[in-house]
This record gives sequence, structure tokens and C-alpha cells, in this order.
Amino acid sequence: MATPAEEIRANSYVGFDTITQQIEHKLLKRGFQFNVIVVGQTGLGKSTLINTIFASHLIDSKGRLESDEPVRQTTEIHPVSHVITENGVRLRLNIVDTPGYGDQVNNENCWDPIIKYIKDQHSAYLRKELTAMRDRHIQDTRIHCCLFFINPTGHSLRAIDIIVMKKLSEVVNVVPVIAKSDSLTFEEREAFKLKIRAEMVYHNIRLYPFDTEENDDEEIQLNESIRNMIPFAIVGSERNVIIDGKSVRGRKNRWGVVNVEDEKHCEFVYLRNFLTRTHLQDLIETTAQIHYEAFRSKQLLALKEQTNPRPAANMANANGRLLKQHIELQKGTGCFGGEVNEGLLFYLDTITVKDEREADITRLESFYRKSGFRRLAKTNYLAYAKDPAHPSRKLPAANDATAEIVFSSDGCTCNQCTRGWFSKRMRAGLLLEACVIREMIYQEPETSVVFVECLPPHLRSILLTQRLVDALSAVVSGFIRACEAPNLVPNAVHVAALARPEARFFFHNGGKAYHVMEHIERTAEEGNAEEGSMDNWSESRDGWDEEWDALPRCANDLNFGLLRQGIGLETFQIN
Ligand code: GDP
Ligand code: MG
Repeated sequence: MATPAEEIRANSYVGFDTITQQIEHKLLKRGFQFNVIVVGQTGLGKSTLINTIFASHLIDSKGRLESDEPVRQTTEIHPVSHVITENGVRLRLNIVDTPGYGDQVNNENCWDPIIKYIKDQHSAYLRKELTAMRDRHIQDTRIHCCLFFINPTGHSLRAIDIIVMKKLSEVVNVVPVIAKSDSLTFEEREAFKLKIRAEMVYHNIRLYPFDTEENDDEEIQLNESIRNMIPFAIVGSERNVIIDGKSVRGRKNRWGVVNVEDEKHCEFVYLRNFLTRTHLQDLIETTAQIHYEAFRSKQLLALKEQTNPRPAANMANANGRLLKQHIELQKGTGCFGGEVNEGLLFYLDTITVKDEREADITRLESFYRKSGFRRLAKTNYLAYAKDPAHPSRKLPAANDATAEIVFSSDGCTCNQCTRGWFSKRMRAGLLLEACVIREMIYQEPETSVVFVECLPPHLRSILLTQRLVDALSAVVSGFIRACEAPNLVPNAVHVAALARPEARFFFHNGGKAYHVMEHIERTAEEGNAEEGSMDNWSESRDGWDEEWDALPRCANDLNFGLLRQGIGLETFQIN
């Protein structure tokens, strides 16, 4: 074991105190790389702001110079590189202008190209990092900062902005700005900012800057003040105007002249200081340590899984043998008795039928039965025996068992759980949760944005059309009815079957009952599981305390794992 190093003083000057200068010299020689992307609707002044920030004409504003000119749009994602030198420091600046998103009638996946661009840069970096003979210095195109332009409506964020900001904040440091804030009065600006911050909290959008354990008090305070200022209300201009005889960067408008660089007029200066003076290095570090790292570990993990494929998750072991818990299911017709008991069944794969809808399961099943498949015990799996003399091949389709997954009632301590796992309190709690969710969708359709994570990508962009909101609420009603029926469980078949007719729009667009079930389950689990009690549910149940108290307690009350298995969420892959 090494003895702890004793601090000694050098007898004569060694010179390693110059290491800081050596590092500085090296860094200066290499220069710094800073990559920014601008995102927002067309015409909000993205190109203009970039030019204003760096006080040099870096990219053409596509705005009109003459009022009769048509608006020229930025049509592709387009990086522009510039080297800026200040007091011997070289900053290589990449600015990526993006076409306005959300301009179209159909905004389906309009944010995909932007997210893809950001991820592509991570991926290019990772590739270089992984090549054996890697360059000592990797050219860094990873995006360090995303300026997100908000329309200065003064009301609230568009639903699509919330979705896009959320998506972006998962992959990049997002810094929101209120565009063209000269169109709002100071009071309107402040109110708008408060509203936006509240919405971001509500939708759980985690924005830059993040506090880390390494931060000292001063940095924490600085970050706090930034968070209290976000979104920066900015004005951009590429032209100079004369104020008090001096030429300054500004704009003339109906009310007078705005000096872009005057803190009393707008927050442009705060934004510039934040980007270049106080947080430049932190933006770069955060990108590498948080966003890139998350991307990297996910990629490496995926790579590992590719080389080590797991057969049919949850159903079979690595050799394709059915797992024991599937063999111990309740007996069906017994036609596969031998194989089940001796573990001879091999799980091959599920066959995915295009455009499958839960409501059509019976039709699918009858199709398989016609082809000789019979039910495995009472599970929702159908199996086929090659041997025409096999008992399953002699069993008439009409006599085949029906699906009723029954898990061992081991966990149940009340003896009243439906199917041995769905306790009365779990049922009542989920019912409450679903009612609250439906009420929220009804009162405030915007809140259905919270479904986003559970929905397939193509449904996300139409999420806030009234039709989809109605459809979602109709599916939630199916869940509620399934919970209300004492002998049913809210599985996909029951939820889809009991949903109000408006739900059809959701199912026809590829939505599945699972997407809604997942959201309800997750909300319930997040709200209750940690506490280890049902306190949260007890808060929302005012008015029927007595009924609640009368419900039997069971060890399964908060067993969300069992619930997920029972209703099939465990095996259903969201997205
Ligand atoms: P982009 O589509 O987001 O890149 O927008 P542009 O930078 O091309 O600007 C669109 C139009 O808005 C141009 O006519 C700009 O002069 C104008 N504009 C840009 N910034 C501001 C601003 O802060 N306030 C006002 N009032 N107009 C602006
Ligand atoms: Mg532009």
C-alpha cells in the first residue's frame, strides 16, 4: 500500500507551476469550438438574432428587405462556420440554422429532422471515439446550445412548442427566448415569462442550466438568477439606428426606437453575456458530460444487446424453453399437457399482424385456430403442434379454452383479489386516477400532452386536435368502466371493448389501449409507490372516505409490478 503523499517543498525552482500556462497555451493554439442551433417557427427572427449576437453578418436573414418581397425561408438545416478572434482567443463558432418547424398544416414529426441532426453529431463523435486509431483531437460538432424561439403571443405556449421543447431538452441544452419581444409591453413580457416558466414546470421540462454537486455557492446563485430570467425576452436587429446622435444596433417601431444593447429595452445583453461570458464553458461541458454521455451509454448498451440477443423477453429462457411461471398457469383444455408439464414447448416468436387492433383479437384468434393453433393453458398464447396426431390438432376450434391469465394468488392476503392479483384498493385507486385524468383532459385539453411519452411518434403531433383529445378521453372511459365492473380487470381487451365510440379515431390511427393504460398506470405508480402507502389516493378521494376505509387491505394493494404483468403492460413495448 502506498503511504500517503507528504507535501514537500522543492529546494530549487522546478517550474511545474507553469502547467497552467502550458495548458492555456495549448488551448489557445487549438482554439475553442462552440456549436449553436436555433429552432423556432419561420419569421421569428432566428437568423437575425444570430447575426446580432456575434455582431457580424454570419448568415443571411431570410426576412424581407422590401415589403413587397416574398418571405424567403430557410429550407434546410444548415451549419455555418466562422472563426472569431478576441484578444488572442480563437472561437470557432458553428451556427446551425433550421427551417421553421410547425409551419405546416400537418406538423407530424416536424421536429424529427432537428432531433436527428443533434443525434447525428453525437453519433459522429462516438464513431470517431471508437475507432482504434483515433485522432488525438476530435473535431467537435456536438450542439452545445439550442436557442428555442417562442412566439411573442403573450398568451401561452403552443402545444407543439411544449412537445418540441421537451424532446429537445432530452438531447441538448435548451435556452428559450421570447422572440421579437419589442412587440410586447414590459408588463406583458413579465406576465408571459411567468406563464411560460409555470408551464415548463408543469410539463416537467428540465431546462439548462443544471446544478451539479461541483457548483459552488456563487455558481448556484448565478444559475438561479438565470433560471429566474428565462426565457430571455430579446430583440434582434442587423441594422443600426441613431439614438442620441450615436449609431447603435436597434429597430424602429411604432412606439419609438429600441436599442438592442440597452438592458432597459430588452434582455439581449443578458443572453449574450450568458452565452459568451458566463456559461460558454459550462454549456460545452454539460453537453459532453450529460447529453453526450447519455447518448453514448445508450448506444453502447444497444450494441451489447445486439450481440447478445435475448429471446422472447419474459416468455422463455435463453434456450427458448418456456419459463416455469408460464407452465404453472391455470390449466386450459389440457391439449398441451405433456409439453407444458415436461417443459418441451419452444417459444418461437409472436407474429405481428399489420395494423392489429385489440378489438380484433377474437378475429385474429379464430384465424389462428383455423390454422391448427390451440390455446396454451389459459394464457393469451396460442401454440401449434407439427404432429397431426397431437391432441391439440384433434381438439375442435370451438372447444378451445379462452384466455384468462391467472397469476398465482400467492401475493394476495385478502382472498378477494380479482384473478388473485387485482386488489380492491388497487381497483379503487386506479379508478380514481383515471377519473382525475379524464376530468383534466375534459377541463383542459392541453394537459393531454402528458400522454406524449406513451404514444407512438406519429400520434404525438396530432395529439392536440380536438378529435384525438376526445378519443383519448373515450379510451380512458373504457379503463374507468373496466375498473367499475367488479369482475373485470383493465386489460387491453376490456379497455378497448368498453371505450366510448369516439375512441375509434384513436385506434384507427394506430393507438393502442396499452398507450393509455401505460399512462394511467405510470401516473398511479409515480404518485403512490414511493410512499409505500396510499396517501396520495386518499387525498383525491374526498367524499367517500367511508367506502374507501371499508375496502379490504391486501398485500397486493400497491403491487404495481403485478398489475403491469396482469394487464399485459410488462410485455407490451411502448413505441
Ligand atoms: P427566421 O425565419 O426566424 O430566420 O427570421 P428572420 O431572421 O429571417 O427574420 C424575419 C423578419 O423578422 C425580418 O423581417 C426581421 O427583420 C424581423 N425581425 C427579426 N428580429 C426581430 C425583432 O426582434 N423584432 C422585430 N420587430 N422584428 C424582427
Ligand atoms: Mg432563417
